[in-house]
Amino acid sequence: MTYRENINILIKRLRRIQLVSLLLMFIGVVLTVMVWNVYESDQWYSKVIILIGIIGEFYCWAKVRQIKCPQCGKNLGYLLLDPSYSKTNGAILLPKELPPDRHCCAYCKTSFDVETDA
Ligand SMILES: [Zn+2]
Repeated sequence: MTYRENINILIKRLRRIQLVSLLLMFIGVVLTVMVWNVYESDQWYSKVIILIGIIGEFYCWAKVRQIKCPQCGKNLGYLLLDPSYSKTNGAILLPKELPPDRHCCAYCKTSFDVETDA
């Protein structure tokens, strides 16, 4: 398995968590709006749902920030979070994969497509 494949598997998993988190936040907001003035005082559950969504979002973001080059250990999260590299509006939703036009680490030039032992 190559390092690119390793990262893409991780990203795929994080994207799934992120989508669920976004969904939870959306449901939380909808619930808040829908039950507004109906059950005025008792809305803790929608706040909890939104909170879980925010934590999930933050978890994914923090995980991506920790992606490092296997060779030199420099951070590679910017490839996924910076829109000019990932070619997506990265902030809200992660890109699907490591940018295909990036073939190696910018610092040590280790190729992402070399087979690893892991
Ligand atoms: Zn490197």
